[in-house]
Amino acid sequence: MTDRKALMADKKRIVVKIGSSSLQHKETGDLDYTKLDVLVRELCNLRNMGKDVVLVTSGAIAVGKKAILMKEHDDDDPIAVKQACAAVGQARLMMIYQKIFAEYNQVAAQILMTKNTIVDNLNRYNAQNTFSELFKLGVIPIVNENDTVATYEIEIGDNDTLSAIVASLVEADALLLLSDIDGLYTDDPRTNPDVKYIEVVEELTEELMNMGKASTGSSVGTGGMTTKLQAAKIASSTGVDMVIANSSDIKVIHRILSGQNIGTLFLAHKDERFDLPLYVQRMHLGEKSF
Ligand code: GLU
Repeated sequence: MTDRKALMADKKRIVVKIGSSSLQHKETGDLDYTKLDVLVRELCNLRNMGKDVVLVTSGAIAVGKKAILMKEHDDDDPIAVKQACAAVGQARLMMIYQKIFAEYNQVAAQILMTKNTIVDNLNRYNAQNTFSELFKLGVIPIVNENDTVATYEIEIGDNDTLSAIVASLVEADALLLLSDIDGLYTDDPRTNPDVKYIEVVEELTEELMNMGKASTGSSVGTGGMTTKLQAAKIASSTGVDMVIANSSDIKVIHRILSGQNIGTLFLAHKDERFDLPLYVQRMHLGEKSF
């Protein structure tokens, strides 16, 4: 059995991903300020422990829609509409984050990325430098895809994958994916009563990679199990331990990092042959063989 306490003890650089559905009230689609507050407090506390922290947050499109009084999420919205919503919502989202981070005396920064940030050597180098400078300055980078210029859904498209890319880029020690699922099951727990919950994934086998289902039941994010397994593949191959856990209680962040047995842990197996820019490029081209 994996000794999670020992594994988590010296995690210094942590990336936390939170999905749109975790930040909203289900009933209204409005932001859940209590959750946001707990999230920011958890992250600030990690900073106070001397750790480097990155937040990958969704919500730009959802918050933008609310702001311009459009009906809730609709997958059929034209891309241009989603991009316009993201333009409104990203600024709002950051305004709210900035305010709460400031309450805890922390400085937050915004980094918006696209596929080219990874694929283009100069862009990637610049992004890496910015992250490392922000860490040196004690600032917490808040990351999202630049949905207003990236063509949403055909570039990186989902923040599960984006967060693993970020974790790899900054050479993080751990990636926490907080979502509306408890972790990885052998099948969809909503439709199959005989499913088994998987506590630790020692190795991402082909069989496991095929197990992902496209949907989590979430109506606001784009990530399902497939994207989480893809994130696990990137994280593991680039030496990052990853945990998928339920965001219903955001305080799982410190519990996971103190070694409690929460969520599914995907153990890192660094593969020196893994080429992140190439992987992202192939993913973008829709190649199934990567
Ligand atoms: N980048 C999108 C947003 O902020 C979300 C992508 C996702 O749900 O994973 O609205």
